[in-house]
Amino acid sequence: MEGMMTDYTALAERLRARLAELAGRSERIEDDLRGALDADYAEQASEIADDEALEEVDAVLQAEAGQIGAALMRIENGTYGTCGNCGETIAPARLEAEPAATRCIKCAA
Ligand SMILES: [Zn+2]
Repeated sequence: MEGMMTDYTALAERLRARLAELAGRSERIEDDLRGALDADYAEQASEIADDEALEEVDAVLQAEAGQIGAALMRIENGTYGTCGNCGETIAPARLEAEPAATRCIKCAA
């Protein structure tokens, strides 16, 4: 056995599933945002407020998708699980709780 390479295959699968879920939700939100505004003025005002809330949710989803995409890239190029600051291995329990973590617990603190 060479080195201490951790197998992240199962994690990568989980991350891809999460990414697909986020993309689906984001798509539904964008469809909703593109929907025609109601003719009634009061309805329009509440729809605009809803749209703003949806845009915020969408931004959060996109940010998470971006982090997961970056984590998948790191799994592919073999840098996943290594602290980007000190180069130490990030504890598996930390990655379990926060798969997109790029720093070990000490550096993140
Ligand atoms: Zn570190």
